[in-house]
Amino acid sequence: MSLKLYNSLSSKKEVFKSISDKKVKTYGCGPTVYNYPHLGNFRTFVFYDLLNRVLQLNGFETETAVNITDIDDKIIDRVNQENASLKEITSKYELSFLELSKSLKILPNNHNPRATEYVEEMIEFIKALINQDLAYEINGNIFFDTEAYPKYGKFVNISDDLKTEDNELSKKNRNDFTLWKAKKDSDGDIFWNSDWGKGRPGWHTECAVMIKTLFDGRLDIHCGGIDLKFPHHENESAQIEAIQKHNLSNYWLHAEHLNINDEKMSKSLGNFIDVSTLIQKNGSDVVRLFLLSAHYRTKVSFSQKKLDECKKMVEKIKRFAKNFNIDSKNIELKFSSEHKLFIDALNDDLNTPGAIGVFFSFISEINKKIAENSISDVDKEKSLVFLKLFNSIFDILDFNNLHDQNIPSELQDLLVSRQEARENLDWKLSDSIREKIETLGWQVEDTSSGQNLSKKK
Ligand SMILES: [Zn+2]
Repeated sequence: MSLKLYNSLSSKKEVFKSISDKKVKTYGCGPTVYNYPHLGNFRTFVFYDLLNRVLQLNGFETETAVNITDIDDKIIDRVNQENASLKEITSKYELSFLELSKSLKILPNNHNPRATEYVEEMIEFIKALINQDLAYEINGNIFFDTEAYPKYGKFVNISDDLKTEDNELSKKNRNDFTLWKAKKDSDGDIFWNSDWGKGRPGWHTECAVMIKTLFDGRLDIHCGGIDLKFPHHENESAQIEAIQKHNLSNYWLHAEHLNINDEKMSKSLGNFIDVSTLIQKNGSDVVRLFLLSAHYRTKVSFSQKKLDECKKMVEKIKRFAKNFNIDSKNIELKFSSEHKLFIDALNDDLNTPGAIGVFFSFISEINKKIAENSISDVDKEKSLVFLKLFNSIFDILDFNNLHDQNIPSELQDLLVSRQEARENLDWKLSDSIREKIETLGWQVEDTSSGQNLSKKK
């Protein structure tokens, strides 16, 4: 089955067709770095990772970008509260986002553009909109003129009940949105100079210009959380599409909220769950499986009970994997009907619960054969392929460190424990295991592909 994705533009599942034959370009709206990202944010970021991996499974080369919003009212508030510099605040939370992403096995993006590094391009872009009478100035603020762009409203029916930004600034039309915000006293020394005076770009312009600069304003897939569909994505695309002849993106994918006690998890509601604490308590593999266990377009309520169920599932997968001598490099991905069912589920708009169900039915069937001592070589082969296939998407097993035959088993166990400690962000435990490894005459080095163990010289 070819890959189908639910496109918010048509509100339908559509067969995915890429712009170029092989390469797929995607952009996801990233974190605003004024605080530690919470579990609800990571539901969206893990969804971007899922999409990336499923595209790769379908043979596409991907070029991905997830931006860092490092200028925003909330960030300025934080700078003022903590009496720190803009960079001190944004670097701290950007690092936390990147470390947690790594811990949750999110594949690195090709680009993590920071808004503040594109301000010159944003100013040029706003000038172009003004020159084409698509934007206007009021007291140093620049607004997009939605009346000058008749196609405004791709994601919503523009009506009187439409949720709009406030109109304290005397905009011409109620849906007009800010491209450039004039400096306020509370902004302190955080501003840029422009033809319209001191100020800074608005959020919708930041994403639009980063996409324009990195991808020439043309994406295969743009994704984000459902609450960004309007007005953020409407406004991003209006600016770009008003001055270029093609779509900003052919597909728009939106992930649902993570709820807690039937309310959206959010910083402003104060009901958020801290990701690093959750990882420390449950393990990053359990948290990742939890985030992938529901379909991305369904609302999910967080509960410890669900996490405990995921923990049992992770344990079951690990026990199953231990039956086989896995050398992941030498597993040729030859797919049989069971594997195809799994791929079909993923290709059906990233149906992860369906795919997990297929994998667990397979595990049960093989476990039964193992118990009856009737497992064949073909079954073993299929199991290895399935473990590798499953892991290429869900990434729960660490094949490399579990089965290195040249390392004494005591050292292998220590490496596994250290890997777990690192995934759980427990640096103290990780360091003490390193010391233990050293007292046994070995040394461990952390590389981009994992831990590297060698004899101490
Ligand atoms: Zn955005």
